[in-house]
Amino acid sequence: MDAGPPIHDLHYDDAPNVDAVPGPNSRALLERQREIDSSAVAYPEDIPVAFEEGKGATVRDADGNTFIDMFAGIGVLNVGHANPYVLEAVHEQADKMVHTVDFPSEARIELIEKLDEIAPGSLQGSNRVVFGGPTGSDAIEASIKLAKYNTDGTGLVAFRGGYHGATSGAMSITGNKKFKGHYTPLLSDVVHAPYPNPIEMDKSPEEAVDHALEEVQAIFEDPYGGLANPAGIFVEPIQGEGGVVVPPEGFLKGLRDVADDNDVPLVFDEIQSGLGRSGQWWASEWYDVTPDVMTTAKALGGTGFPLSATIYHEDLDTWGSGDHAGTYRGHVVAMRAGTRAIEYIQAHDLLAHARDLGEYIRGRLGEVAADNPRIVDVRGKGLFVGCEFVDSEGEPDGDAADAIQDYCFEHGVLVWKAGRHGNVLRLLPPLVLTHDLAETALDVIVDAIETVTAEPQRA
Ligand code: PLP
Repeated sequence: MDAGPPIHDLHYDDAPNVDAVPGPNSRALLERQREIDSSAVAYPEDIPVAFEEGKGATVRDADGNTFIDMFAGIGVLNVGHANPYVLEAVHEQADKMVHTVDFPSEARIELIEKLDEIAPGSLQGSNRVVFGGPTGSDAIEASIKLAKYNTDGTGLVAFRGGYHGATSGAMSITGNKKFKGHYTPLLSDVVHAPYPNPIEMDKSPEEAVDHALEEVQAIFEDPYGGLANPAGIFVEPIQGEGGVVVPPEGFLKGLRDVADDNDVPLVFDEIQSGLGRSGQWWASEWYDVTPDVMTTAKALGGTGFPLSATIYHEDLDTWGSGDHAGTYRGHVVAMRAGTRAIEYIQAHDLLAHARDLGEYIRGRLGEVAADNPRIVDVRGKGLFVGCEFVDSEGEPDGDAADAIQDYCFEHGVLVWKAGRHGNVLRLLPPLVLTHDLAETALDVIVDAIETVTAEPQRA
């Protein structure tokens, strides 16, 4: 398939190339934003910059500084910024038609067929796709409705450390209490079980899995388990915001069993972990467990267009016409872009590339961790990488992750953070990151870690 240029041709060739940041143009835009934009604006609080343009795994700010992008618009730009193979179809489609609600179009049917081609396990050939609103949260809402509709249940089982979005239903199944504290009551029948994070639980991987599964099983099967009328289990196969937590073997399989035994759908939120991020199309494939329902968004819009979808087993296709709705369920430009992005990943074998490059990145971080007690874990799959920091007392150290992010920014590398205490350095670069760019970025990140962890800690 002729699917655009090779990944080596996609990037600015001077990255990283950074003067003092933020430069004057960024400062001016940040100031103007502060005057008129919402106090809820968040990202510039961590990285004070105004971006101007991007190519591949590199971005330029308003002052011409060039950065290596190791967070990809928070896991959105899997085929890089301004991927020419994707943009070609975007321009073509945008000139013809942008919005079609859910009338049929080549763009819509092609994307649904493409999603079937890459669907995990037994969902392949036996699924349906529903488009609703454009965000990940919208797809989560759809999955909650679908589970309730099909089971007549009300109760939702979710997991501590999980993040599912900012709308009411999605917040209800999210773990972060601070995030939703002002908006209670949300959905009333939600129970959060432990997610097996061996580091946080101070348990072996097997113990962590056993403990989590016992809790989930009790919610369903203990007569005093508390949840009277369960509708489904909602889980990230790899937790993203929770700190790139990769559950040990056995957890997702165990959840599959509990869901089957109790006749409720197993719903995987693949919004952050899917579409190649983990080195498989879907993180669930690492565990050979197929969900009944899965959500996708972020990278689905191909080059940053907002588009989400809920993919579910055809047996659950019981809604009547119009039972799930949304004006923006027909963004055909985003759909074209999504299909092209999947084709680009296929044609350039980027799943294997993500696996190899992820190993390299974790290897470099692992070398630093070997003699640095401030790093307690380096983990992830593919290009979904977490590196967890503690202070000299062994307590979670969000300040270290902050300082590493600042150092990297000043040296031309954009990184992000995650974890309950903000103490996990999270890397989720475009899958088109080259080995050379990864090596340069890791040189900076390793310097950052060594510099920050050598400094005396703040009292
Ligand atoms: N689910 C997961 C796993 C996410 O990471 C996110 C966003 O980060 C969401 C759901 C919500 O997606 P959105 O922010 O597009 O509503």
